Amino acid sequence: MKARQIESVNNQFFTSNDHLFHFNRNFILNLDKAKSRDFYKLFIDKTHNGGQTGPKRWSEILSLNDEQWAKIFKTTRKLCKETKLKEFQFKFIHRIVVTKRELFKYGIKTDDECCFCGENDSIDHTFIHCSFTKSFIQKVIRWFNTTYNSHISPTIEEILFGITSNSNEKGIINKFNYITLFMRYFIHSRKLNNKPIDLLDFVNAVQQRHLIENNVNN
Ligand SMILES: [Zn+2]
Repeated sequence: MKARQIESVNNQFFTSNDHLFHFNRNFILNLDKAKSRDFYKLFIDKTHNGGQTGPKRWSEILSLNDEQWAKIFKTTRKLCKETKLKEFQFKFIHRIVVTKRELFKYGIKTDDECCFCGENDSIDHTFIHCSFTKSFIQKVIRWFNTTYNSHISPTIEEILFGITSNSNEKGIINKFNYITLFMRYFIHSRKLNNKPIDLLDFVNAVQQRHLIENNVNN
């Protein structure tokens, strides 16, 4: 495109009187008056809700409503300081966590078998259906209840996304949500490295790094 033509296109665009951006049916943004916080708010509204693909796909197998998803998004930001855990949680919510299914699909692995049980791997298999995972999760919950003198009996939704209901025991709930987030990350990273998921290793990882004390906002 010649310089004169570009100039003409730019003039047309920037001198147009239409400064209104039709974001959706309910919202029109005046581009002349909008400040960065308005754009940020749009971004938050657009990203932090249950209407996205990841939560929608989770909702096909779990019973989590929009209100609970909003809480899950909100608590994720406060739950921990560690970038890799936040990143993992983000990927987990959006169902973009890599398992052998994806590695096989992209030709990185020669099969899609779960390295623990040999069944077809997937996100659902890794975190919900695998008998090895299920047994490990039960051990972690028993260890948690013994260690913190609690009686939490979580639903599958709470195991996967933390406890969202209001409770007087906010401190213990925060610990539970943090520990179970770390547990999912532990399962994921162990599997990718072909290492077994062992309770003692898990407890050591938690304790060595003083994860609870340093990372949970009570
Ligand atoms: Zn398995």
